[in-house]
Amino acid sequence: MNTPIVLSQRAQALTSSAIREILKVTERPEVISFAGGLPSASTFPVERLHAATDKVLTDAPQAALQYGPTEGFAPLREWVAERLTRAGAPVPASRVLIVTGSQQGLDLLGKTLIDEGSKVLVETPSYLGALQSFSLFRPAFASMPSDDGGIDTDALTPALLDGARFMYCLPNFQNPTGKRLSLERRKALVAKALAAGVPVVEDDPYGELSYGGEHLPSLLSLNPEGGIYMGSFSKVLAPGLRLGYVVAPEPLYAKLVQAKQAADLHTPSFSQRIVYETVRDGFLDEHIPTIRDLYAHQCQLMLQALAEHFPPAATWTRPEGGMFIWVTLPQGIDTTALLAQAIARNVAFVPGAPFYATDPQVNTLRLSFVTVPAEKIETGMKVLGELVSEAIAALPASAVAA
Ligand code: PMP
Repeated sequence: MNTPIVLSQRAQALTSSAIREILKVTERPEVISFAGGLPSASTFPVERLHAATDKVLTDAPQAALQYGPTEGFAPLREWVAERLTRAGAPVPASRVLIVTGSQQGLDLLGKTLIDEGSKVLVETPSYLGALQSFSLFRPAFASMPSDDGGIDTDALTPALLDGARFMYCLPNFQNPTGKRLSLERRKALVAKALAAGVPVVEDDPYGELSYGGEHLPSLLSLNPEGGIYMGSFSKVLAPGLRLGYVVAPEPLYAKLVQAKQAADLHTPSFSQRIVYETVRDGFLDEHIPTIRDLYAHQCQLMLQALAEHFPPAATWTRPEGGMFIWVTLPQGIDTTALLAQAIARNVAFVPGAPFYATDPQVNTLRLSFVTVPAEKIETGMKVLGELVSEAIAALPASAVAA
């Protein structure tokens, strides 16, 4: 006999991420999927990780397989602190928390900063996984307006900022749009947040994937004492390692540690030691440029395919880094309906609506240019371009003119 299970209101409100649902469909090998943000598996440094694993199991097998401190493996925390310091954000290792993927950082920040009804400022659109994570704690999201350059800092009025628990920002090659915030806007954002007493949470998994543009200072480096920052090894090594980090000031840091203790005690000792062994001698400085070269090439191919196959009524971002291009179609097209037709033709993308905390723009979609190998990008984009052209042709003439 089944015992009745009464779900918590929190669990009842949970929905599955639109991307994860699509990923299930796109596992069929014949589907060319621009949907998931999966790094290209060809960039995973398998031999290097193999050697590091051997070394860890030879040199320190017991420690690597034992429980470890919640804060993380000390040498890896030191390494992160040094790397951030070299990039212009001087932070001590004592403020670095190693997490089980930066996604866990989002969960811990939700747990420690959000009460039911708390105002949380997010970008328009924002990272779906963060919206999903924060939603568990039932905030009142407020959207920060954005334009072609990302967050429109002129629109960050005292009224919008007033009473917010934090603002969640993705200044580098944002997921989902690929936009990057200018230096001027970074400075304005941090100054306004400081003046309003609103902590800035910076999520930066793509900062090192810059394709030629100059390096811009992180928001953390503009306020190293007070900034909250998240980084990840997923896009520069491999996401299956599930390794990221959060930098936070006291007293938040101590609360994040306690929340993590309750969640999973600590991030796996084994993966932390393997990653430390892999990166300790400067490996990333030779490895990241190879990822950049590949992704820059694929980004270029996708931009060319957009120009060639998409009708003039569609517009898109031209990212200088990261993994995503954001496409806006004419009003009147709902990309969720379009996706069903695309999947029937063995191509996939992510509809834009779930990336909005408020007022979803249903005529938008996200394309990843990193997962599908170069030779399939053109094929998939041609199919998608035809579909978009057909959808636009089916609109009433007045809708396209608008
Ligand atoms: N933040 C952003 C903006 C992301 O795009 C992702 C992964 N798609 C994450 C956080 C989570 O990354 P991970 O948990 O693998 O570090």
